[in-house]
Amino acid sequence: MSLFEVTERARQYQSQLLEFMDSHVYPAEAVYDEQMRAAGDPHFHPPVLEELKAEARRRGLWNLFHPHPDWGPGLTNLEYAPLAEIMGRSHLASEACNCSAPDTGNMEVLTLFGTDEHKERYLKPLLDGTIRSAFAMTEPQVASSDATNVEMSMVRDGDDYVLNGRKWFASNGMHRNCKVLIVMGKTDPGAPVHRQQSMMVVPIDAPGITVIRNLPVFGYQDREGHAEIVFNDVRVPASDVLKGEGEGFAISQARLGPGRIHHCMRSIGMAERALELMCRRAQSRVTFGKPLSENANIQDWIAEARIDIEMIRLLTLKAAHLMDTVGNKEARTEIAAIKVAAPNIALKIVDRAIQVHGGGGVTDDFPLAMAWAHLRTLRLADGPDEVHKRAIAKQELRKYRNEASA
Ligand SMILES: Cc1cc2nc3c(=O)[nH]c(=O)nc-3n(C[C@H](O)[C@H](O)[C@H](O)COP(=O)(O)OP(=O)(O)OC[C@H]3O[C@@H](n4cnc5c(N)ncnc54)[C@H](O)[C@@H]3O)c2cc1C
Repeated sequence: MSLFEVTERARQYQSQLLEFMDSHVYPAEAVYDEQMRAAGDPHFHPPVLEELKAEARRRGLWNLFHPHPDWGPGLTNLEYAPLAEIMGRSHLASEACNCSAPDTGNMEVLTLFGTDEHKERYLKPLLDGTIRSAFAMTEPQVASSDATNVEMSMVRDGDDYVLNGRKWFASNGMHRNCKVLIVMGKTDPGAPVHRQQSMMVVPIDAPGITVIRNLPVFGYQDREGHAEIVFNDVRVPASDVLKGEGEGFAISQARLGPGRIHHCMRSIGMAERALELMCRRAQSRVTFGKPLSENANIQDWIAEARIDIEMIRLLTLKAAHLMDTVGNKEARTEIAAIKVAAPNIALKIVDRAIQVHGGGGVTDDFPLAMAWAHLRTLRLADGPDEVHKRAIAKQELRKYRNEASA
């Protein structure tokens, strides 16, 4: 019996997903590159993605993340973890299976706190994969890793709120199908620090919204984009405030738990693929009379990669197990720990795989350079390392607080 028992249905989904990856997703990567190159537009929506989505849906590999059985298979976090890991192996798989960030987090928020109208207008098409969404919290003018700093003003005026401010890094904001934003701002700057913020559902084409530009990531123009958006007197009906005024901070905490661990699961998939590529390359390239794989340092990297992957996988499964059994709040230390560990370790493995590939490793002939760029952003997105470490340290120090004051 394994430490974290794999249920029969989880095992079935794993084998179906692995089959789908081999038969459709990996072969689609080259087609995707070709279609993107031919279009010459970084935000083009290539037809191969819609083909993958249709096939994933046909196979029942759709909305795998969604905990509610009405919307997806209703898997637990522990059951979903290995599936997200498998999807993490290709940059196409999550979107193909309608399991991409930030839509997954936004769908969970709309499920929990959306009105009937939000569900009809946005949640259903998001679950159907016909639209996409973005989450706009971070602002260029303030240090947004402390979410209480967020400054966007949301001022009540009759039946509406009027929004003014500037957001950036709204991932998905340039996606051709992005129709809706979940926006966090301040409704009451005079309220207690964690009650000042509210979240609102805002169509991306609302009058007064201007998408200024896409922010490149290490020079990559990501297809879904990371948008900088200006809000100029944008009117939002009061009925589009999620959960109620002053609930924004609480929603952001609820939203980020599952989203964070999904990133970690996918990072492990990227690390596994990098290790696989590293081994293949090390065995096939010969220098100074022997394959690279016969050098002790390369063997060391391979062994360390295997050890590290097993460690982060176990920590991820533990966090997922705790989320399922005692809830996201009780699991917060483990979620914070894996949010730091998984991207850092996966980055190290990808970096070494790049080294083994020589110059080719930094080109787009292999998926490693893009994986590195993406993983590096995960040390910032959904909270920088230091903020998660701060939370873990606070928990640890709390145990000894009384000793210090004695
Ligand atoms: C690719 C990408 C996608 C993103 N997607 C989204 C999105 O969809 N929606 C969204 O709203 N945001 C998104 N973000 C933004 C991300 O969440 C923020 O960049 C992050 O929260 C940090 O905020 P900041 O950039 O304002 O950095 P700051 O708050 O200015 O912090 C700067 C640095 O200070 C350090 N730091 C902070 N606090 C401490 C501390 N207590 N001790 C020591 N050091 C500290 C950290 O190293 C941090 O990186 C994305 C970012 C990236 C790179």
